[in-house]
Amino acid sequence: MWATCNVRTRAESEQFTALAFARPAVILIALVIDFQEMILRVLAGAVAAGAVTGFARGRGMLSPEGQGMAFTIGVLAAAAGWAWALLLIAFFVSSTGLTIWRAEDKRRRTINTMPQVSGRTARQVAANGGVFALFLLLNLRGASPRWQLAALGALAAANADTWATEIGVLLGGTPRSIFTWQRVALGMSGGITVLGTLAGVAGALFIAELAALMLPTLDPRTLLIVMLAGTVGMLSDSIAGATVQARRYCDRCREWTERRVHPCGYRTTHRHGFTWMTNDTVNAIGAVIGACTAITLHRLLRG
Ligand SMILES: [Zn+2]
Repeated sequence: MWATCNVRTRAESEQFTALAFARPAVILIALVIDFQEMILRVLAGAVAAGAVTGFARGRGMLSPEGQGMAFTIGVLAAAAGWAWALLLIAFFVSSTGLTIWRAEDKRRRTINTMPQVSGRTARQVAANGGVFALFLLLNLRGASPRWQLAALGALAAANADTWATEIGVLLGGTPRSIFTWQRVALGMSGGITVLGTLAGVAGALFIAELAALMLPTLDPRTLLIVMLAGTVGMLSDSIAGATVQARRYCDRCREWTERRVHPCGYRTTHRHGFTWMTNDTVNAIGAVIGACTAITLHRLLRG
């Protein structure tokens, strides 16, 4: 009996010794393959991001610095995985598609309120995609469903806000302040319309559905979490827009505006909110709240 025991133990220990040598080798090979796949994704991501952002800049939708920022976020998403790159492309294509849809009509409707910019700047791109990119970076350091859902919540909030603004301005009718429910001029931050809000929820649902489809192992409730996170992020954006965002006034036309120089030629004065709280800051706040909501819902629903 002792002998049998000894033989087994020896065989087992030999197996263990073999495993002890094999395991680091397997881990090393897996790491090399992982790394190679990542390099491949980064290269493919650079080509795709270069093409998409190049096209957008050619159409005047991105400034040169805006293109650089969008390219960086695109390559980062590709490094994180194919699904992330596709999600970012879905966001970029749908939101820029809606932005250029009847652009001249929208420009005419909001000429008194919104600053007229040609091509999104780096700051504007970072305000919409920066929080998403930040959580992807955290996830690259140590993969976690928490960071992944946070990135999705931020992306859904940015998408919801864009869909709500672009559709609301065109088809939503007269907006009301989300805070005081008084009528506000078209294009002023903090103003919402029923149709615009529904379009925003659809924008959040769009990202949530794609995420649930492309990242099926992430969380069984991905669709619900991301849709709610995106909607909460969008509403927070409007609340911040109605309360703390900088608002200016034209003394000649007696109109509220976000423009520094009114179309009448008059220089407008800062009258409400914090001067540093620009539309970009408010967009970034919406994305951060979208991310935090996703993390909170993930914890609550898991428990
Ligand atoms: Zn004026």
